[in-house]
Amino acid sequence: MTERDVMEFDVVVVGGGPAGLATAIHLANLIEGHNAAVEKAGAGTPLKPEICLIEKAAELGNHSISGAVMDPKGLDALLPGWRTMEPKCPVEAEVHDDYAMWLTATGGMRFPITPPPLKNHGNFVVSLNKLVKWLGAIAEQKGIQIFPGFPGAKLVRDGNKVIGVQLGDSGVDKHGAQKGNFQAGGILQGKLVVLAEGSRGSMTKQLVADLKLDGQNPQVYGIGVKEVWEVPKGNCAPGLVVHTMGYPLDSHTFGGGWIYGMGETEGGKNLLSIGLVVGLDSRDPTMDAHRQLQRMKLHPKIAPFLRGGKMLHYGAKSLPEGGLYSMPKNFGDGFVLVGDSAGLMNSMRLKGIHLALRSGMLAAATAVQCLQKGDFSAAATGAYWQSMQADWMHDELRKCRNFHQGFHKGRLAGLINGAFAQFFGGKGTLWSDNLKSNAGHTYMQKVGPYFGGKGKPQLDKLAEDGVLTFDKLTSVYSSGTLHEEDQPCHLVVTQPDLCSTRCVEEFGNPCQHFCPAAVYEMEPKAGSKHGIDLKINASNCVHCKTCDIMDPYQVINWVTPEGGGGPNYTNL
Ligand SMILES: Cc1cc2nc3c(=O)[nH]c(=O)nc-3n(C[C@H](O)[C@H](O)[C@H](O)COP(=O)(O)OP(=O)(O)OC[C@H]3O[C@@H](n4cnc5c(N)ncnc54)[C@H](O)[C@@H]3O)c2cc1C
Repeated sequence: MTERDVMEFDVVVVGGGPAGLATAIHLANLIEGHNAAVEKAGAGTPLKPEICLIEKAAELGNHSISGAVMDPKGLDALLPGWRTMEPKCPVEAEVHDDYAMWLTATGGMRFPITPPPLKNHGNFVVSLNKLVKWLGAIAEQKGIQIFPGFPGAKLVRDGNKVIGVQLGDSGVDKHGAQKGNFQAGGILQGKLVVLAEGSRGSMTKQLVADLKLDGQNPQVYGIGVKEVWEVPKGNCAPGLVVHTMGYPLDSHTFGGGWIYGMGETEGGKNLLSIGLVVGLDSRDPTMDAHRQLQRMKLHPKIAPFLRGGKMLHYGAKSLPEGGLYSMPKNFGDGFVLVGDSAGLMNSMRLKGIHLALRSGMLAAATAVQCLQKGDFSAAATGAYWQSMQADWMHDELRKCRNFHQGFHKGRLAGLINGAFAQFFGGKGTLWSDNLKSNAGHTYMQKVGPYFGGKGKPQLDKLAEDGVLTFDKLTSVYSSGTLHEEDQPCHLVVTQPDLCSTRCVEEFGNPCQHFCPAAVYEMEPKAGSKHGIDLKINASNCVHCKTCDIMDPYQVINWVTPEGGGGPNYTNL
């Protein structure tokens, strides 16, 4: 049995994204306020909790990627003086103009009016990984112990009660043997564990399954693929926000594209963000978001934004899109879920940063109540969910609760449903209060019927030119992704025999398409049923979790690799 160091904390936050950092910062603020009030009154008990935050990236922000246009509502609540704070909050540009475009294969048109959910005046174009670094410095200043490079490998539980986090081991070779530099991951005991792992968190997924925390509908996800380009001034004004619908996606695939003008940054370069979100409940077994983004950039309405420019950075990440009725129960004995881990995304607006920040604040307020009472049971942590239901974030999520699900009946139906929800808000939708849906992977069609049926395969030839379009390996290079090569594979295929047998016949090995980082490859293998077998290039993994979500047999389990490995995102 491996001996593990044990450290005791009151609150352990897992994940240094906006949700985890907002939890930490607000907790520190509330404790400071409480202790000042105790001192002033000369009565009461000051609180001196030990709080830590762990992050799997080598540095805060390295795994953070978003669009991103940020609604300032969350930051206004967390740090009301953020606009004038020093050091300055790293916003790229204030939004001054926005429009939406409908794209056909060869042309397109601007919508005469911007649909209300896509109106962004008053919002800010940001790079999430810069914003996260800035928030991290504030948290550290407030005394939070931040441990980057430390992945949470599994939750430590006493029955249904979460009592801590076991960190990942390091120095283990690819066969599972200890190397000379082996270090057993320690155990961080916590009275309250705040799960802020983002979309499809590996420990959150296990907890939701074990404790049956699923919401009324299973969660459905999308994948966002994004590039940051340096472009000549004049191609795209700073603060310009463009959203696209239609091409390159077929009418049964949820999603849309964006271009955001970032302005001058990164040593005076003029940057823009371009990306595409694709539903991970696509019917198409050849769905490939990376390829779709490359096709989108060739479109005559899009290519001019990039003309004369250079792609600098690439990244990809999943996002939870199921909305209110797909949110898991977000509290229990010794734990709460915040941000994307709790499914808090507005898929109609493609916005989750403000909700992540706000949920962190509400979790912090609950943590303080728990600390005061010395009670971390579900009866006490339930205050978190109660406060959320009374908050503006719940109203916002209620309005868009069936948005993604509406697209299961096709794009037109989805748009009508979305418009109806906009106008009648909380009062119901076109079809029902809760449009039932299934887990995303169940919508994938088998290769035979798909190619023979109405759906249009998206495998048309694309010659990557290395200027406007890129192959996946070039893109992975631009994400800065690195992992220790000699470590156990963190993409655990629990039934590997399926890959070279049933999956070849039924789905044509969709992992080689849906992975945006060329992790999965079918290579020739003598003696296997179809002459091919799966090869996993785990070191390419950008931690987007698409494989864990979209595999039709649900046999890929994404677990945390050795600490510090993964993408090294800049300006994403
Ligand atoms: C492509 C894309 C575009 C988007 N565009 C927008 C937009 O324009 N506007 C907007 O408001 N929102 C947007 N969103 C959504 C927004 O980015 C998320 O809602 C938000 O980042 C969620 O914050 P979070 O803290 O919950 O999770 P994350 O930002 O995902 O942070 C989670 C952190 O936890 C770490 N972590 C995970 N597991 C572990 C573990 N086991 N141990 C230690 N650390 C761990 C991760 O490395 C990461 O740093 C977009 C998302 C994507 C993917």
